[in-house]
Amino acid sequence: MIAHPDKAELDKVAVELLQVYGNRELKAKERLAIPPQEMPSQDPHVRVSNMDEVATGYTEAQVKVEALRCLQCANAPCVKGCPVGIDIPRFIAKAAEGDYASSVAVIKESSMLPAICGRVCPQESQCQLLCTVGKSLKSIDKAVNIGRIERYVADWESRAGKRKNPEIAASTGKKVGVVGSGPASMTAAADLRRAGHDVVMFEALHKAGGVLVYGIPEFRLPKSIVQEELDALSAMGVKIEHNFLVGRTAKLHDLMEREGFDALFLGTGAGLPKFLNIAGENLVGVFSANEYLTRSNLMRAYDRHKAGTPLYNSKKVAVFGGGNVAMDAARTAKRLGADEVTIVYRRTDEEMPARREEIAHAKEEGVKFLYLHAPLRIVGDEKGMVKQVELITCELGEPDASGRRSPVEIPGSEAMHDFDTVIVAIGNASNPLIEKTTKGLDVNRRGNIIVDEETCATSMKGVYAGGDIVLGAATVILAMGQGRRAAKAMNAYLAGTGEVE
Ligand code: FAD
Ligand code: SF4
Ligand code: SF4
Repeated sequence: MIAHPDKAELDKVAVELLQVYGNRELKAKERLAIPPQEMPSQDPHVRVSNMDEVATGYTEAQVKVEALRCLQCANAPCVKGCPVGIDIPRFIAKAAEGDYASSVAVIKESSMLPAICGRVCPQESQCQLLCTVGKSLKSIDKAVNIGRIERYVADWESRAGKRKNPEIAASTGKKVGVVGSGPASMTAAADLRRAGHDVVMFEALHKAGGVLVYGIPEFRLPKSIVQEELDALSAMGVKIEHNFLVGRTAKLHDLMEREGFDALFLGTGAGLPKFLNIAGENLVGVFSANEYLTRSNLMRAYDRHKAGTPLYNSKKVAVFGGGNVAMDAARTAKRLGADEVTIVYRRTDEEMPARREEIAHAKEEGVKFLYLHAPLRIVGDEKGMVKQVELITCELGEPDASGRRSPVEIPGSEAMHDFDTVIVAIGNASNPLIEKTTKGLDVNRRGNIIVDEETCATSMKGVYAGGDIVLGAATVILAMGQGRRAAKAMNAYLAGTGEVE
């Protein structure tokens, strides 16, 4: 495990840097000389036994120093990398001045969930990838830390009690249903309610928030932050119906025809776990990452002594997969007390789709990585519980459709490995319930709803869709962007203009 600078040390250095660079005009060369500010985080030895947030957030001195690194580029390439086009140089300039209220107001012109996106956006492949500072210093790690600044100003707004609910237009008398309660639906619901419609959100689970609540663990995204957004929706007058599974509790056509909804937004996500279809996947001790994380996050299974549904007592855990979901599952298993957790991945570190930061955090916490290995079967004991996994060694071959070199199994390299728990984290598909119970809703061969790119309108009149149910398993910011685009088109449709302004 690595040496760990604490928050006070990082703050002290930032205060000294502010004395050198603060309160004066800076030349580009000086800005480029300011070191990037490291994110303070909990010591890996400590955090591995708690569920608290790992990254604890910049101090005020750090955020100002980081903001001073921005060159305020006239062409702002970073903005092109942000799926919702936040005016990044403008919000960073306000943060550098210490005017956090104006800074967060700039972000909120384009994004409804900055405290969430500042934490979980894959910034290094979006806004920060295109940052001129990173390019000039020839390292993506040296780009301006846009997401961290975004997180700071959003948290400041909440801590300072400066959040204001948006104005609601006069009632239009129209009734709109929003199915699902993840980021796509939360954004659509807010924008539809602002326009003066009655908005009802239908969520299948007993808690709203989608993957933000049941998937992404507390140590990456505190649930209180998501709850704050949901409370804001309720305060705006959005009604949230829990335990309401559209397709079972009521069909889509019933909502439109019997319940009098004038329009519907579908944001039902991609919650159907994929399996490898190998022998032994039905043994006790095999979980989909979705089930494992849901039990931990939503049912608080990590709270061992209080949980009504405590999680399996694992000693040696294998996690199949190399994405963010695999990292979340592995790090959760560590926190739940497993002695040894191993990520089993068919390719190498270079091809791993998970965020670099998540991989680094997992390694710091003692998660092991077994590269170039693929599972062949899971073997159980006489009680039907996981005992071993047969793995085969792979080597890298030609690039496949994803552009990554494909794993090629080496015959004769099969070997048995001892594990008592297996978590399968190889991706999610869309839930087919609504599609199967709704005539006239067009989906593609993967089961994703087909929409008009600009308006998010589906093949059914008055029904719009966005987020993972359209894009396949994607990201929070893309889901949010689609929710916003759909709401804009729905507002036009409900106003009778039928056109996007
Ligand atoms: P979801 O968040 O999936 O919400 C859909 C909601 O609809 C759910 O609450 C579901 O219960 C409900 N629902 C489904 N069917 C019905 C029905 N028939 N009736 C009523 N309700 C229904 N993205 C990032 O950007 N950064 C990350 O770090 C990141 N980490 C992730 C970690 C994990 C473990 C997972 C699983 C995903 C992660 N993602 C991440 C992806 C991101 O969370 C999703 O892209 C995003 O949440 C999709 O939002 P959504 O609104 O489309 O759907
Ligand atoms: Fe970057 Fe995401 Fe913020 Fe856009 S929303 S500026 S991509 S961190
Ligand atoms: Fe600032 Fe980087 Fe954007 Fe330029 S590209 S405006 S330096 S954040």
